[in-house]
Amino acid sequence: MFGGFVFNLPTNHRALKKIIVTLDGYSSCGKSTLARELAAELNYVFVDSGAMYRAITLYFLREHINWNNRREVKAALQNITLSFEYNTQKGSSDILLNDENVEHLIREMLVAESVSEVAAIKEVREFAVAQQRALGNKKGIVMDGRDIGTTVFPEAELKIFVTADVAIRAERRYKELYAKNPNITIEEITNNLAMRDYIDSNRDVSPLRKADDAIVLDNSNLTRKEQLKLVLGWVKAKLT
Ligand code: C5P
Repeated sequence: MFGGFVFNLPTNHRALKKIIVTLDGYSSCGKSTLARELAAELNYVFVDSGAMYRAITLYFLREHINWNNRREVKAALQNITLSFEYNTQKGSSDILLNDENVEHLIREMLVAESVSEVAAIKEVREFAVAQQRALGNKKGIVMDGRDIGTTVFPEAELKIFVTADVAIRAERRYKELYAKNPNITIEEITNNLAMRDYIDSNRDVSPLRKADDAIVLDNSNLTRKEQLKLVLGWVKAKLT
């Protein structure tokens, strides 16, 4: 339930078939927020696939892995175990890197600066995608990322491509990061978003692009509640 708002889903929707919902799009479009709320509403599992790439990047940074060296990358991946742990306060899962909860650490700028480079590496993507697919094998999942509708679950029943005005995205991320780091500037954030969008859209392996059968959701001028209502309508159409 979202803030006491009643959505008009079929009353027995939980007993109905379970589907896969994918949310892809540019950085800081609010995909994870929407995915989390949608999953809670549907009683589905929410998976933030970006957290997996961020945790791998954190490991590479900490262990001084040269990610331009394929052999080093392959060896390092063998030492990484990713898992999720439900956080009752948040109502969604935190990511664990080798059993350490790194949910907060992976949101830092240091990780954001390197994550798109790391996520462009073929071996890294194969490692993450295999785990993402396993998480979705029973359906009833909402996963957000960059290639979920195109590569991870090309057969997903509902694919959404989220977009928002770049200035609005930067402002949203600024508000989020400022609380933790008052020295951060809007320029720094805008540059990071632009850099990640560029690398994510231009890499060789599974570049960010809209799946042909994805619905575009521009949430520049939508409240969280409005966008959730809209998307629940799309889900409802798939379930009935
Ligand atoms: O979603 P988030 O911004 O946390 O993702 C961090 C980075 O991880 C993205 O900028 C992108 O480089 C990478 N990523 C990806 N494929 C995904 C999810 C995230 O390449 N499915």
